[in-house]
Amino acid sequence: MLIIYLKNLLSKEGKIISDYSKLEEIFERYNFKDYRWINASQIMVANWVRFKCTFGCSSYGKKGSCPPQVPSVEDCRTFFSEYDQAVVFHITKKVQKPKDRVAWSREVSKELLSVEREVFLSGFYKAFMLFMDECRLCKSCTGSREACVNKEDSRPGPESLAVDVFSTVRSIGYPIEVLSSYDQEMNRYAFLLVE
Ligand code: SF4
Repeated sequence: MLIIYLKNLLSKEGKIISDYSKLEEIFERYNFKDYRWINASQIMVANWVRFKCTFGCSSYGKKGSCPPQVPSVEDCRTFFSEYDQAVVFHITKKVQKPKDRVAWSREVSKELLSVEREVFLSGFYKAFMLFMDECRLCKSCTGSREACVNKEDSRPGPESLAVDVFSTVRSIGYPIEVLSSYDQEMNRYAFLLVE
């Protein structure tokens, strides 16, 4: 872990960015203790993810941070290419009822936003958080970017930006499986883009 971390601290110019260590203090203060640093280029973006959002997801067209309210897959690829480093946060939870997941997701998203804000205020002006889920900050979503009632805080989930979360997290040794029931433990992943 330490070796991967140190390796990933190498910037494109080959300099060690020791300032990244102070970000770990922020993560841990918010109790996000299970995370891994990766090169942003390790985030896999795939067209099939967008197709799955478009055909088969009940949120399509109903959420202000989900397709089709998000950039094209090509634009998403370009977006990730503009970053050097990313942090993958592994967040687990078991819920008894589907609606329990919504409230939990909202609370975790608020904490993730606070982390993004502190990272930004530390001088990492490009900091951008991808929630571990679709944006659920409001009990009822207005369904479009223009009508979003919380524009400062809404963020997309990684799948909304066509991230192949399964392949990406498996490539760094994290667990993820298709679940068949709500009472199984979820392995969710949020991504912080930083440079
Ligand atoms: S902040 Fe509210 S209105 Fe905006 S995308 Fe998220 S849930 Fe929808």
